Amino acid sequence: MLSLLLACTSRPPNVVFVVLDTVRADHTSACGYTRETTPVLASLDGDLSCTAVAPGSWTLPSHASFMTGTMPLEHGAHSLTSGVGELAGTSNRARPLNGELRTLAESFTAAGYQTLAVSGNPVVNEKMGILRGFEQVEVATGWGRLFGDDLPAKVDELLGRADPERPLFLFVNIADAHQPWRAIRDDAPWGGVTTGLTWNKTKEESPWIRYIQGELPDEEWGPLQTRTVDLYDNAIRRADTSLGAVLASLETGGWCEPGCRVVITADHGEFLGEHGLLDHGHEVWDENAVVPLYTSSGELASGWISALDAHGLVLGEPVSHAPISEAWPHVRRCARVRGSAFCDIVVGDWSSAPKTVWLDGELFDEAAGVRTARTEPAPEFAAHGALVRKAARDDGRVDFEVEELLRAAGYLD
Ligand SMILES: [Zn+2]
Repeated sequence: MLSLLLACTSRPPNVVFVVLDTVRADHTSACGYTRETTPVLASLDGDLSCTAVAPGSWTLPSHASFMTGTMPLEHGAHSLTSGVGELAGTSNRARPLNGELRTLAESFTAAGYQTLAVSGNPVVNEKMGILRGFEQVEVATGWGRLFGDDLPAKVDELLGRADPERPLFLFVNIADAHQPWRAIRDDAPWGGVTTGLTWNKTKEESPWIRYIQGELPDEEWGPLQTRTVDLYDNAIRRADTSLGAVLASLETGGWCEPGCRVVITADHGEFLGEHGLLDHGHEVWDENAVVPLYTSSGELASGWISALDAHGLVLGEPVSHAPISEAWPHVRRCARVRGSAFCDIVVGDWSSAPKTVWLDGELFDEAAGVRTARTEPAPEFAAHGALVRKAARDDGRVDFEVEELLRAAGYLD
């Protein structure tokens, strides 16, 4: 009896890590948003930060940071260097995760855990190194292909095949809030049925693309912005519903008896027209940098913290709670992580000039592998990278004002 008791008490807890893809903190009711977008997240016991800063501005760098506890320039999984590897299903050229860094799945495997991963975001995959080390992996084959009820059903299916005698590490990416947002259903909380709005269309068909390029008349933007927010809020609500279903599956299966360690965060937010931007992954302002961070155990510091702390929380390790640097005047265009700032602006997409990255007071020239101290940020970081990128992707044209900024920074002849 004594040995049985010891065996029981020494068993490590089951661990659940959920990333709510593309969910910005200020659009969650758990963080005070007026629409009830996240009743499940709001109902959880534990501690929630609404001022966590994502380690990257889009899926790949943030997930690589969550999995390794390192910054994007350390783990390498971002689009800093063009031409190295194609990222399936996206227009981004990106590098995979540095193979020498240990992932959460590898750490849990070493500790005797079974490791399961289900991702509704196709970028979160084994090819890019993000899911390296997981025993069982289910990844959406394209955007919107593992969403709604299908995702928690897939989680339930995997849990049904899991070994109840082994401790469990479950990672879930819920990508419902990521574009392309599906049409709003009749019974959705906000707005009615919507069709025809998608990012995956040509400029002529997409008012969103025309807005980004400054070609949408003001009178058309107002109603479109309302519709955009409706779509996004409903998508967050659907992600929160899936979160509830995943947690219910764990409970029904007895996986959280006596209790699981649960960590929930988001990899980035979303622009909904602020700063003339839509989408995410380019410039970094609060709208796509500030995310929720939840932990079922322990307390989170108040004020600005890094969502990178999710890594330590998942492992059950003490987190640093190092203050986020706000030393630079435009630091909120950059991801702030443990006192450093990271800018992932791919200026090199439009010229052959080597890319530079401004990192916490240093310019990092990746082509030359040189870091130089600099007292002021480089002028290229004042450029509206997202606008340029959108324009370049769509039809090769570059916004005049941005073109002037890039020329002044030496990126165009
Ligand atoms: Zn993402």
